[in-house]
Amino acid sequence: MRVELREVTVYYEGHFVPALSAVSFTVPEGAFAVLTGPTGSGKTTTLRLFYRELSPQSGSVWVDGVNLARLPFRELQRLRRQMGIVFQDCRLLPCETAYENVLLPLLARGVPTRQAQAMVLELFAELGISYLRHKRPVALSGGEQQLVAIARALLPRPRLLLADEPAGNVEPMTTAHIAELFRRVHAQGTTVLVATHSADLLTLLPATLQIELQDGHVVRVTGAEPQSGSGP
Ligand code: ADP
Ligand code: MG
Repeated sequence: MRVELREVTVYYEGHFVPALSAVSFTVPEGAFAVLTGPTGSGKTTTLRLFYRELSPQSGSVWVDGVNLARLPFRELQRLRRQMGIVFQDCRLLPCETAYENVLLPLLARGVPTRQAQAMVLELFAELGISYLRHKRPVALSGGEQQLVAIARALLPRPRLLLADEPAGNVEPMTTAHIAELFRRVHAQGTTVLVATHSADLLTLLPATLQIELQDGHVVRVTGAEPQSGSGP
């Protein structure tokens, strides 16, 4: 699922300095893109635009060929169901167990119950977190919550995966495992956009495109394809 920002500027209420200034970039369908830059450079703000948790003051946000500003809420919901989102703060359902947090989105997408249950148990086993499945989020460590949040976003095989600092709280071994999960979902055709300031995670990801932010500006784009028209 292709995503694009065109000259996007975002101000947070009460702030005179924009969080993003005239930011433009394109992540083509099927790409594995990373959004890098120091803390405060605008990575989280950028990701929030793509599921319209935030709208820009100027410029436009395009997802799958659609300008999000023009999209009725119902259509937006349909689009969001094709996305997997890993939030920086995880946002697990607090009253459901880890298992249910991962299972429910599969059921909501129409995966038959038995198949969905098997998928969740298999991934938990692979991640070495089977023992967590009956726990509620409050009883999980930050790193454990992150693994559950990643499992929840990846399992439905979304067309677009947006992940915000997915390895922020985990050990190096787990970072490698997370990178492998991302590699796999990308190989299955998902367009991936990972925001991170972690050099460790970056070296492990099979990124084809890197967009670097600083103080709300794009300062470098590496690996971009030529603009349409100049290529085959
Ligand atoms: P990053 O994810 O790269 O750390 P953010 O997108 O979170 O950067 O933040 C970009 C800028 O916007 C920072 O200066 C930050 O302080 C500011 N900012 C982020 N979220 C908010 C908010 N909800 N309200 C006000 N300012 C915010
Ligand atoms: Mg952030």
